[in-house]
Amino acid sequence: MPRLIFSPASAGLSPCHPCDILNRSDLTTILLTFAAVKAATKKNIRDLSKEEMKSFFVENNEKPFRSGQVWEWLWQKSARSFDEMTNLSKATRELLKEHFALPAASLDTKQVSRDHTIKNAFKLYDGNIVEGVLIPTDSRMTACVSSQVGCSLTCSFCATGRLERLRNLDAGEIFDQVSIIRQQSLEHYDIPLSNIVYMGMGEPLLNYQNVLKSIERITAEDGLNMSPQRITVSTAGIAKMIKQLGDDEVRFNLALSLHAANDEKRSRIMPINETNTLETLTEALKYFYAKTGTRITYEYILFKGFNDEIADARELADYCRHVPCKVNIIEYNPIDDSEFTKAGKEKTEAFKNFLESRHIIVNIRSSRGKDIDAACGQLANKNEHAVVKLKKQII
Ligand code: SF4
Repeated sequence: MPRLIFSPASAGLSPCHPCDILNRSDLTTILLTFAAVKAATKKNIRDLSKEEMKSFFVENNEKPFRSGQVWEWLWQKSARSFDEMTNLSKATRELLKEHFALPAASLDTKQVSRDHTIKNAFKLYDGNIVEGVLIPTDSRMTACVSSQVGCSLTCSFCATGRLERLRNLDAGEIFDQVSIIRQQSLEHYDIPLSNIVYMGMGEPLLNYQNVLKSIERITAEDGLNMSPQRITVSTAGIAKMIKQLGDDEVRFNLALSLHAANDEKRSRIMPINETNTLETLTEALKYFYAKTGTRITYEYILFKGFNDEIADARELADYCRHVPCKVNIIEYNPIDDSEFTKAGKEKTEAFKNFLESRHIIVNIRSSRGKDIDAACGQLANKNEHAVVKLKKQII
């Protein structure tokens, strides 16, 4: 195991007098960089399988049952440091620290909305921040989690789309968001978390393996033991990966952010549609449905004067004929400098009524957490500790 020798130069800082670096923000940078370097050189313990963990303990002359204890700490008790594993001896915890890293996400700040929605900023081991939201309603407690730091797609109505994609989250970091929000649901409202949506920052299907692994751990009996039917992954529409979900015969729900059922309009607000056209998506969704038997949810934000006419509803109804589906009409939450505003109540009702006249199941999702920028499409790392890099074309 190489020994790490820390120097300001290795952290990307210019060498200077020690007093110069002893201000709070430099010290924080140094500690975070040091933690990131350490975490990067040791294997992430959450990447180990059960068998690998057992072998590790046997090779180090420890009792094999220790692996079960550590597994339980990681995936059932949601431990985010080795020191929390209090039924292990200090020597065993030191052994783990010597060989492994546990790069966990931790709660940095939280804001509570007037409607009781809670927006969380999670700090990652390298100092990056992502956001996750607890959305309480009468019938459910939903966690909305992020899958990437920033996003490589550029949907024009979305605040996250203005941030550069810095990296994918690993499965443990996604799992941490769920376990922290799950705890929060009990502590704040005394109601267990019931649903999870992958609709936070990032495109989940562009971080496919980690998203699937996180869901495996959330749904496993020796994990959080939640039902896959209570989990929805929402995509902007990556046809190839939708087919992959079909091949993997996943048991969770799939939502497609549609927002327009003709290519010209959809490409204007979602550039990903230029390479993943509606026809390509239709083929992928048919494939997904044939493999999984799971009904698709289409998300449709109504923008005033853009996609809120009956002609738009007719196109959407026609599109709905391809695969068994339902439609969630989502109230738009304006973001800074947005060209869009939300559709009026009458238009929204007329749109819904038209779809229902075509026997389509429709729900209207009103926005939650608007006063704290926690609503759909508003997550943009306004947290003061966040590293925010705007995409060049938007600066
Ligand atoms: S809507 Fe989703 S995919 Fe589109 S920019 Fe925002 S986070 Fe990325």
